[in-house]
Amino acid sequence: MAAKVESAKCTGCESCVSACPVEAIAMKAGKAEVNKDTCVDCGACVGECPAEAIVME
Ligand code: SF4
Ligand code: SF4
Repeated sequence: MAAKVESAKCTGCESCVSACPVEAIAMKAGKAEVNKDTCVDCGACVGECPAEAIVME
């Protein structure tokens, strides 16, 4: 159940990066990317994304 960014929806706003308590999200080529090994499945980033680009799966 790690977070996953749907890159087609991501606008690159970076809101999710600071929302993540374990720094599991980094920007790569203008899109957010979740490190699944670091993600603790808290879901905090999902509500922070204005583009609804993050899903838990
Ligand atoms: S679900 Fe939580 S730990 Fe995982 S990327 Fe989002 S904010 Fe970070
Ligand atoms: S908050 Fe959403 S739109 Fe903004 S960088 Fe993160 S995934 Fe992309």
